[in-house]
Amino acid sequence: MNRRKQIYEGKAKVLFQGPEPGTIVQYFKDDATAFNNKKKGTISGKGVLNNRISELIMVRLQGIGIPTHFIKRLNMREQLVREVEIVPIEVIIRNVAAGTLSKRLGIEEGKPLPRSIVEFCLKNDELGDPVVSEEHITAFGWATHQELDEIVNMSLRINDFLCGMFVSIGIRLVDFKLEFGRWYDGEEMRIVLADEISPDSCRLWDIQTDEKLDKDRFRRDLGKVEEAYQEVARRLGILPESGPADHQGTKAIQ
Ligand code: 5GP
Repeated sequence: MNRRKQIYEGKAKVLFQGPEPGTIVQYFKDDATAFNNKKKGTISGKGVLNNRISELIMVRLQGIGIPTHFIKRLNMREQLVREVEIVPIEVIIRNVAAGTLSKRLGIEEGKPLPRSIVEFCLKNDELGDPVVSEEHITAFGWATHQELDEIVNMSLRINDFLCGMFVSIGIRLVDFKLEFGRWYDGEEMRIVLADEISPDSCRLWDIQTDEKLDKDRFRRDLGKVEEAYQEVARRLGILPESGPADHQGTKAIQ
């Protein structure tokens, strides 16, 4: 990992210069942060599982025609992705009230929303990623109207697809965060899905029991954090049925 030039270190990932121009190696760490970096910790094996879970989701989304930055997984913790210019907006899609929506609007956690809701947050740690409107985004030039239309359309398609995918393995997709980038392909620019989709960026609840199978177990000190990530991987068919014990060797997901 030291051979390559490091471009950026984030909370859960490190980006290195890729082997070809226009490519980047995304390294998944076990580090976890919450509440704008106020809570820090490690979730053992998280990087390995998120690398694999995000790969599976990106490949399936590509299969329904969603353009993504994902090229291929390189090894246990690294994937090769296209270099993109990140749109400085986090897109949050919600199906069930939870988290900051419940807090902000006083809606009970777990209440299904009348329809899927798309929110935008400005990517700015110092400000704590504040919620912004479409007006802010276009007025301040973070994205154009056309880019935003594309981003919202893609986000809703991704939501429909992922809701179905997770329901089929007994999981409710409560909400999740997406990031998009501008990919410059010669003269052309395309908006593509970037970053990762994993239990770090989604709220995933067991359909039968409402048990949380995501980063809220870390955020809220619920315990069994590693087990939750393993359970999502197991249901997606990435870990064998017998679960955590098989994960020790990590051969199953190499
Ligand atoms: P909330 O706004 O309720 O905290 O989060 C809504 C959804 O977006 C949750 O699934 C949460 O995991 C995800 N999310 C929001 N902000 C971030 C972020 O900065 N990083 C990650 N990984 N996920 C986020």
